[in-house]
Amino acid sequence: MHKLTKAALALNGLSRSLVTEKRVSAVKVIRRGLVCTEHGDEAGKTEVYDVIISGGGMVGSAMACSLGMDPNLEGKKILLLEAGNKKVMDTVPASYSTRVSSISPGSATLLSGIGAWEHILQMRVKPYQRMQVWDACSDALITFDKENLQDEMAYIVENDVVVAALTKQLDTLPDNVQVKYRSKVETYTWPMPHQAADCVPWVQVMLANGEVLQTKLLIGADGPNSTVRRQLGIPTVNWNYDQSAVVAVLHLSEPTENNVAWQRFLPTGPIAMLPLSDTQSSLVWSTSHQTAEELLELDEESFVDAVNSAFWSNENQSELIETAGSLFRGALSAIMPSAGSPRQLPPSVAGIGPKTRVMFPLGMGHASEYVRQRVALIGDAAHRVHPLAGQGANLGLGDVASLTRLLSQAAFNGKDLGAIQHLLEYETDRQRHNLPMMAAIDLMKRLYSTNSAPVVLLRTFGLQATNMLPTLKEQIMSFASK
Ligand SMILES: Cc1cc2nc3c(=O)[nH]c(=O)nc-3n(C[C@H](O)[C@H](O)[C@H](O)COP(=O)(O)OP(=O)(O)OC[C@H]3O[C@@H](n4cnc5c(N)ncnc54)[C@H](O)[C@@H]3O)c2cc1C
Repeated sequence: MHKLTKAALALNGLSRSLVTEKRVSAVKVIRRGLVCTEHGDEAGKTEVYDVIISGGGMVGSAMACSLGMDPNLEGKKILLLEAGNKKVMDTVPASYSTRVSSISPGSATLLSGIGAWEHILQMRVKPYQRMQVWDACSDALITFDKENLQDEMAYIVENDVVVAALTKQLDTLPDNVQVKYRSKVETYTWPMPHQAADCVPWVQVMLANGEVLQTKLLIGADGPNSTVRRQLGIPTVNWNYDQSAVVAVLHLSEPTENNVAWQRFLPTGPIAMLPLSDTQSSLVWSTSHQTAEELLELDEESFVDAVNSAFWSNENQSELIETAGSLFRGALSAIMPSAGSPRQLPPSVAGIGPKTRVMFPLGMGHASEYVRQRVALIGDAAHRVHPLAGQGANLGLGDVASLTRLLSQAAFNGKDLGAIQHLLEYETDRQRHNLPMMAAIDLMKRLYSTNSAPVVLLRTFGLQATNMLPTLKEQIMSFASK
């Protein structure tokens, strides 16, 4: 699809999210059908749930816990369907897993509220207090930290640990909250607006084993290739970046406090080193598909050399940019002598965890509608972003918080959980947050994917100026930590 068409589609989502809630509801309710609490024709023949969540990754499992623990939803029949096996972690494995996420304070608060953070703390989590981001084509850098390095900026947690903690918490919930593992959904039958236009029957869910279930509300948490989204035919803006991410567990040359997350923007893509422990970090290296494949083929020693060189080499810098950058920095320091923060040097890498190198193709996607009658999309099923800002799972956990709040209110007021009115409020609430974040991430990816001198100069000045403005940095941190 042409880029301008894609942008227009994305903006369509943004403009819809900016319209006031009341007007949005009135227009969309008519377009997407009305809902009443009467059941469909098939009820009675099959098991009926109040809510079925399709997909038990980090986001779907958090959704099930969050709904299962909400006092207003007490007694509601909630079912989580996950195609894969149950992920339990009775003992924490000696070696780190390659898939990790930077979990924001906002997400940690949500996980804490649903009882999973306690389990995560008992397993494994690494907080960090500072982040340094710098440009490989110039001396420009920006650091983010909490005042006096007292508070945590975010936490690095293995994805398996997050899911295992949520699974443990789900096991403690009453019987009305059920989970079926190894239960892949094959097809959904969607409600068509009732002829009288005042009732909408329930969603029918057919599992791969032939079992048929019904639900008053289906939540699609089935990841970036969401079957729910595709079978609903929701228009989605989707593009693949010309990059794959190589991830690995890195062994540092010597033990350090390791409380900084590092990210360097190379013209081929960002390379990040996220702390796991005093001696180990996690690598997320976004680069061209071809380079990613080559990196996977390298022997361990050459791979380690490539990682160190990517963090340390000055081969992309030019004298012109360096001079202009240092003049600009000098001028800024004269105006604001105490602003800015000193450059720190990242730790050097000595080895990698055995068999930890894996690559993932990167892309961006956004469903222009997050809801239909009796259906809501959350997590990567609704939006997928480049990992450069470590926001994918955090956006999904934000969806969980928002949808829980609105469903809880609906239950308190005795409303039908699948009614489009409050689902539209969820869509508006989340698109207001997700779209600006997605636009910022995509812009960063594009701005740093070049070594053309005018662009490098522009971003060098921009980064240096931002680094000197603590209030602006605080606003950026606050937006990213939700
Ligand atoms: C390299 C990399 C680094 C990243 N780093 C970060 C980071 O630092 N911070 C951050 O916040 N995010 C990060 N992300 C993004 C984050 O991993 C994703 O946003 C997050 O995993 C999405 O979770 P999800 O539960 O929505 O989807 P998924 O993790 O894709 O889970 C979907 C689940 O649905 C199940 N499923 C699918 N289809 C069906 C079906 N038909 N029936 C039943 N079950 C089904 C699947 O088995 C799966 O368990 C990163 C991503 C990448 C690629």
